[in-house]
Amino acid sequence: DNPVQRKPDWIRVRAPIGKDYSETRKIVKDNNLVTVCEEAGCPNIGECWTQKHATFMILGDTCTRACAFCNVKTGLPAPVDHDEAARIADAVVKMGLEHVVITSVDRDDLDDGGAQHFVDVINAIRSASPATTIEILTPDFLRKDGAAEAVIDARPDVFNHNLETVPRLYLSIRPGARYFHSLRLLERVKERDPSQFTKSGLMVGLGESKEEVMQVMDDMRSAGIDFLTIGQYLQPTRKHAAVARFVEPEEFKAYETIARAKGFLMVSATPLTRSSYHAGDDFQRLRTA
Ligand code: SF4
Ligand code: SF4
Repeated sequence: DNPVQRKPDWIRVRAPIGKDYSETRKIVKDNNLVTVCEEAGCPNIGECWTQKHATFMILGDTCTRACAFCNVKTGLPAPVDHDEAARIADAVVKMGLEHVVITSVDRDDLDDGGAQHFVDVINAIRSASPATTIEILTPDFLRKDGAAEAVIDARPDVFNHNLETVPRLYLSIRPGARYFHSLRLLERVKERDPSQFTKSGLMVGLGESKEEVMQVMDDMRSAGIDFLTIGQYLQPTRKHAAVARFVEPEEFKAYETIARAKGFLMVSATPLTRSSYHAGDDFQRLRTA
């Protein structure tokens, strides 16, 4: 086990209370949905759910991978629940979402890695709520030929896949994944459909150097990635990777400045930034700019 470090003052979170929070919670429960907000123990849940932002996690709550930073349980997942697409679409309507973020566990056990289910969910949301913009945060579809193409062709507005960390740390932090495969996935999105925005994210505080982070930014820009998120890694439990360092707010500001100079259209870099944090607000602002 790794000791859990005391969090610095700048990692403060609001308690999840209030009527709007409870309403979001009720819609999630009534529709029998899984959210990454809960599964990942996200520190922003109080704020996000109060504002009716939630990130839905499709394809179950059990993942075939075991990343060292992630709180989602590992094991053999249940069969795909085909009714889930309709329940997600219904929740999107009930919550009145302008922007929805859909992510999933990794399904190495399925022939298509769960791609068809992503397509079904996108189509169900589109027909129930045509004005809602759709952001997907996908697995890497490693060794799943044609899977990424099927999802791209369903035309989400934002195609997000997180690189999570610098290539040197992949073996210890993201052992089932391959850095260049993930980078290439996002490049393929742009090649196949240049109208989609591509997005990726990093966690910092895992032992990476600033130079390595800047190299990843350059790699991302070479692959045409439009949006970048950078947040502090927080250790979910003692069984997960230890925090190497709490990166100071000023350093996040510096990363943001550098990232903008490198040409990213949208950058969020703060200690509590998560892939889906304020995703909708930022995207709507960009579209109306
Ligand atoms: Fe959920 Fe994302 Fe908000 Fe966290 S940042 S609570 S995962 S919507
Ligand atoms: Fe968590 Fe995704 Fe890794 Fe699965 S693949 S353990 S859900 S980060």
